[in-house]
Amino acid sequence: MSILVLGAGQLARMMALAGYPLGISVQAVDVVDNKIVDPVTKLVINNSLDRLIEEVDAITVEFEHIPEDLLELVHTSGKLKPSVEAILTGADRVREKKLLAKLAIANSPFEIVTDVEQLDNAVEKLGERLIIKASRDGYDGYGQWRLESKSELPGLKQKLSKLDLQKVPLIVETMLNFDRELSLVAVRNGEGDIAYYPLAENLHHKGQLHVSIAPAPNVDTPLNQQAQDIFNKLSESLDYVGVLAVEFFQIGQQLLVNEIAPRVHNSGHWTMQGADTCQFENHLRAVRSLPLGSTKVTSPTAMINIIGCQAFARDMLSIPGCHLHWYGKASRKKRKMGHFNLCADNYAELGKIMLALAEYLPIEHFPMLKDEAVKLTKL
Ligand code: ATP
Ligand code: MG
Repeated sequence: MSILVLGAGQLARMMALAGYPLGISVQAVDVVDNKIVDPVTKLVINNSLDRLIEEVDAITVEFEHIPEDLLELVHTSGKLKPSVEAILTGADRVREKKLLAKLAIANSPFEIVTDVEQLDNAVEKLGERLIIKASRDGYDGYGQWRLESKSELPGLKQKLSKLDLQKVPLIVETMLNFDRELSLVAVRNGEGDIAYYPLAENLHHKGQLHVSIAPAPNVDTPLNQQAQDIFNKLSESLDYVGVLAVEFFQIGQQLLVNEIAPRVHNSGHWTMQGADTCQFENHLRAVRSLPLGSTKVTSPTAMINIIGCQAFARDMLSIPGCHLHWYGKASRKKRKMGHFNLCADNYAELGKIMLALAEYLPIEHFPMLKDEAVKLTKL
């Protein structure tokens, strides 16, 4: 069995690693130069893209921002899962907001802006604390701007006037005072079977995910049901096949959808150690029409992203339950270099080993770690 992944980064790599035991071979296309590579070794595979598309059993994506011509090419093969519609919805915040409206799913109040002059009106309607997002090609907080007060508006308008907003409109959202961020990662196969992981609690810093705790503490049955109902509506409407992640803001007992990701997701990396079947294996199972694997939690897990740093010893591997996943990429500011999964018998123990981990790490790169660890020790 073989699968082609569009995109050759760490998500393709982790899919490939999950595919080995099942005898599924995963090859990847680097979407920048259309070269075919082994996503683990990064060695170039001497094959044409057209031939590979014919040979493989299924084609999937590791991210949603795929060049249009490539997406069209794989779409016509009939092997693309999830569908082109699902990928385009995740790639374009305007489409995403339209789908949420059609399905009556609560999300952050917003305005679509196609000319900087419309920003004054957006401030009138949404208030002066805003988050402004390019509708396409944004990730990890890139393609986002924040407005803290009306006085910053002229400067921001000037900055944004350089963009072609007719081509790529802005989604302007109210800056919400949410209680916390959660995400639901779940998988659906072609028969419509769904397996849900529990909600994860996600901690972001400067628009980028730093830590996920799964299962999220203090989730009651109605909250979990609300998240699963939203997942069901979205995945059924898109006739979705594969892993789909839904990011939420929790305000009281209400969940508002922030965005959806039509792929395996950073907030699901904890499943590599903390669940019976990891998200990568379940994604491969779904796109290859195999039975879905159990999503049962095996231990409370903290996923800690390693962002923009590589200069640290590996001694922390002596901590019980500490697992390192290193992606082997060249270091760059804000770049995800790898992650830790920490597993323990309960949240208090998890907090303790997070504190132990913090002792080994350059703390300026892990600003959320200690505070979150202390919170967990008190649960
Ligand atoms: P990622 O790729 O990490 O998911 P992204 O660039 O796709 O990020 P978003 O998920 O929309 O962008 O936003 C990144 C983060 O910015 C959110 O996780 C949240 O912490 C913050 N954020 C986004 N929208 C809002 C909002 N309306 N109010 C408050 N905070 C927000
Ligand atoms: Mg996000």
